[in-house]
Amino acid sequence: MKSRGIYFVLFVFFVVGIALLGGVLIQQEKKQQEEKLSNQGNYLVSLIALHPIADFTGEKGNYILRTIREYISPDGLVYCLIHDRSGGLLASLGARDLITGIPKEVRIQSLYTPGLVTQTFRAGTTDLPIHEFSKPIYENGERSGTVRLGFHLPSPSILSPDRIKLLGIVAFFIFTISLAIYYAITLALQRLNSLSLSVQSSFMDPASTQVSSVKATRIDQVIKDFEQSLGLLKAKMSEIETSNMELETKAGVTAFYENQITNILDSMKLGIMILDSQDNIMNINVYMLALINGKRDDMVDRSVGEALGHREMLTYLERHEGEGKDGRAKSLETTFEDVAPGHLFQVTSSALKDGEGTVTGRMVLVDDVTNEKLAERAKQEFVAHVTHELYTPLTTIKSYNEMLMAGEVQDEETQREFFNTIMDETDRLQRLIENLLNISKIEMGSLTLNKSLVKSDWLVNDCIAAIETAARKKQITIERTLPDNFPSLFGDKDLLKVAIINLLGNAVKYTPDFGRISFGLSDDGDAAVFEVADTGYGINPEDLPRIFDKFYRSEDPRVAEQTGSGLGLGITSEIIHLHGGEIGVESESGQGTHFSVRIPKEEYQIG
Ligand code: ADP
Repeated sequence: MKSRGIYFVLFVFFVVGIALLGGVLIQQEKKQQEEKLSNQGNYLVSLIALHPIADFTGEKGNYILRTIREYISPDGLVYCLIHDRSGGLLASLGARDLITGIPKEVRIQSLYTPGLVTQTFRAGTTDLPIHEFSKPIYENGERSGTVRLGFHLPSPSILSPDRIKLLGIVAFFIFTISLAIYYAITLALQRLNSLSLSVQSSFMDPASTQVSSVKATRIDQVIKDFEQSLGLLKAKMSEIETSNMELETKAGVTAFYENQITNILDSMKLGIMILDSQDNIMNINVYMLALINGKRDDMVDRSVGEALGHREMLTYLERHEGEGKDGRAKSLETTFEDVAPGHLFQVTSSALKDGEGTVTGRMVLVDDVTNEKLAERAKQEFVAHVTHELYTPLTTIKSYNEMLMAGEVQDEETQREFFNTIMDETDRLQRLIENLLNISKIEMGSLTLNKSLVKSDWLVNDCIAAIETAARKKQITIERTLPDNFPSLFGDKDLLKVAIINLLGNAVKYTPDFGRISFGLSDDGDAAVFEVADTGYGINPEDLPRIFDKFYRSEDPRVAEQTGSGLGLGITSEIIHLHGGEIGVESESGQGTHFSVRIPKEEYQIG
């Protein structure tokens, strides 16, 4: 009775085991088929999308589709549709009622998404789901059409020969093991039975003491064996525990490093996205997420074609321009107007390779290059300005000189005027070259002061003399407010002259004819204060904070029509600061400008 019960239990175990195993195998096969279909679908749709749209019109289109069906098509292809730019059907393959039964939202998603799209849906009379893979065809940077492929996933056959073979082998093993367990249990029960019988009889029959002592020795042996096995089992368990702990530690370390990598990527001031070889997003940093307005959880593990909404970037990535598939590696310049209006970004993509040189994915970087572009533009403008500034006076000097040498000007008054103009233009050239030399010294940090005693009355006279002719030409009056006792300064006379002449020169340049300039000097106890005011065009409030920047010139047309390099005030403020002084400006558009400069008076020590 008992053994029948055991047989029954073993049989139930056997059947349940086989059923569970069968279920697991079917699940696994389904998963493998899905993966295989996804790879095939992606590959095939990408291959077809490489054709220009013209290939799908007329007989050629039909021929291509027939070839796909007959030679390339894997099992399960249910339709292939080629759409033109506007979504119209150019060529099709597959059952008509199935194609017309495709839900509208599936069609829209495929026709209007920029990259590769995978969708699953049910259509028509069949109950089997359809897996659609679609990809746009691009020509000359424009979407010229769309390829759509629909597949049925083959249903896993429950009784495939391979599975029956595997189940047979497993059933045999389970059966053999069950039998072995059954016999082991019966044997153990028999031994215990006979052991208990012998113990009982030894208590009842003293004559059997000798026999019972032999049996006791055997029990001892059994216990010893049992203890030994228990010891081995314990050792094995602790071994497993240790290796478990090691595994957990390793997993912890891996998670920590993954976290660290994400933190490092997040701390970068540029957008970073890592793609695997199938163009699925593996990692993306916060900068990039902010640019594309996305969330990490919505992006990671998704195909870049589905997750990225930036059209230009997507086209750039799909064409693999960054990796130079066509022989030239290119970067993309683009904008993210919604999040960073007015900024220009450079997108680069480079292949990631493993130790053996196999491409394992791509790294996409997005860098804000607005400042570089501005600096580049400023440099180009500067070269254009300087060339113009050098060229204009040189042309005047050359032509006046030629006329004088050829004796074309006889009148003495005109000759003097010509000589004066040549002199003025030479001064202008000299000032520009001085400014250029000074700015390059400032750039290199080598502008140093050559200090000596500077008598401020000489300084004032020299500066006014430098701009007097230009002012006279525009009939500008120069008013002077000078002290009775001129303060003496300890500084670099030549550089102080450059600084003040720049202020006076600007006042002449940016004041219209018949205007007024006032130039003042006062002794403020521990500092000499120079003031240059004019009745000119004034400075717009938006220009005011930037006038001391190198190369900065106002875009006001009245300023732009004057020659200039945008260097003067930059150099002036640098020179004043090197003397420990300060420069300030007050101005209002149309009301004139007032610059004031304070230079501390240092004690002059003889010797
Ligand atoms: P530049 O005169 O060669 O353009 P500066 O560095 O000397 O360069 O001056 C920078 C800018 O500051 C000028 O382009 C102009 O817009 C403004 N500016 C300077 N001085 C005056 C002034 N006295 N009146 C009006 N605008 C001025």
